Amino acid sequence: MRLTFSGAAGCVTGSQHLLESGGKRFLLDCGMFQGRRKEAEKKNKTLPFDANSIDAVLLSHAHIDHSGRLPFLVKNGFRGPIYTNPATIDLCHAMLRDTAHILESDAAFVNKHHPDEEPVEPLFTMQDAEETLALFQPVRYRTPTPIGGNLTMESFDAGHILGSSAIVLRDGHTTLAFSGDVGRPGLPIIRDPEPLPPADYLIMESTYGGRRHPRESEALGKLETVVSETFARGGRLIVPAFAVGRTQQLVLLLHQLMNERRLPAVPIYVDSPLAVNVTDVFRAHPECFDEETRRYLENGEDPFGFRRLTYIRDAAESKKLNDLRGPFIVISASGMCEAGRILHHLRHNIGDPKNTVLLTGYQAENTLGRKLADGMKTVRIFGLPAIVRARIESLDELSGHADSEELLNWMKPLTPTLKRVFLVHGEPQSSTPLAAAIHSTYGIEAVVASPGRIEEI
Ligand SMILES: [Zn+2]
Repeated sequence: MRLTFSGAAGCVTGSQHLLESGGKRFLLDCGMFQGRRKEAEKKNKTLPFDANSIDAVLLSHAHIDHSGRLPFLVKNGFRGPIYTNPATIDLCHAMLRDTAHILESDAAFVNKHHPDEEPVEPLFTMQDAEETLALFQPVRYRTPTPIGGNLTMESFDAGHILGSSAIVLRDGHTTLAFSGDVGRPGLPIIRDPEPLPPADYLIMESTYGGRRHPRESEALGKLETVVSETFARGGRLIVPAFAVGRTQQLVLLLHQLMNERRLPAVPIYVDSPLAVNVTDVFRAHPECFDEETRRYLENGEDPFGFRRLTYIRDAAESKKLNDLRGPFIVISASGMCEAGRILHHLRHNIGDPKNTVLLTGYQAENTLGRKLADGMKTVRIFGLPAIVRARIESLDELSGHADSEELLNWMKPLTPTLKRVFLVHGEPQSSTPLAAAIHSTYGIEAVVASPGRIEEI
């Protein structure tokens, strides 16, 4: 086997690794770069190989930084199968269409406002997204599947989002495990990460390789405190959240807090057409749920809907929230405050010290979410300066990524046979200490991957 690292090497976005085996070429993930707009656009338009030289793609999960460039690959000539979990396929239907729609609208906006300049082309179109969706091939967990050449894939629940997989690849000589993104024990809705069978090599994410998270069990109490304090000030709670996974988890926790009368039953709005579609996908895949969420279903309750909760698809309905009085909660995308309706809610609410902005996930470098998390007092929203007076809080307890100790625990079943670990999907301040911790804990060499690095394994 030969590995070439290209995306998510030395950073957390653009996940993409090339694997050559038995004369065939496979891509592990094909994700989008995010961050500084111009820089990300340039990276997204660059493929370090011929798209039509790729025989198949193996997709770990639906997050856009892992799946978002698949339609660009197809636009450039890829026609092979894309192997992934059935729930991931359904999520990609919602997410890749949503991304195509945003890219087409952004390009149309720029072209309308700059009629004298060379028209910009979207990274990919809805047509490309539709052609991509036709290439998906479902592979269930723990089902060894031949995928061409002499390679077999088997996937395991990574406990990160619905349908997320860690993938084990075997060619008869070498076994390579690819972690995708590794979740954490105890997260709401989804099951805990499954242990992997022995492997010779491991490609592992390292998003939080340099730190420890507060325990997930503290999420409910922290959420209760933040919401209660905001309401006591007469403010609103604005929650930027990823439409996939995080929104559904927050809805479930708020449902639980209101059921237990730990919070007053105030109105909650999930304001994101994508979150609405994705919540329908969640409802269609109860086989991916943990015991607690299954119990909701068995009791005849909808874990993702209750009386005080309104899902908003329509833009006009979304705008009406600006005029609403009294305390309420808005959950809206995107989670890193880079795009989407959350920007309107932030613009309207960030200047009022009664309000709270609750960040709920990883905030990549150079995103608006990261600036808020870092305590910047003036930020730019829609190109205009906005003074931050609202309280900024972070709910790191819900992080969908394992921290350093959880990653070390997760990889433990692999260690008796493991020859080397390649760390991806982490900024250097996370990957480097994790590499050192792997070496000191297990005596196994861990290498921090860099773009273009080639490894014969
Ligand atoms: Zn992810």
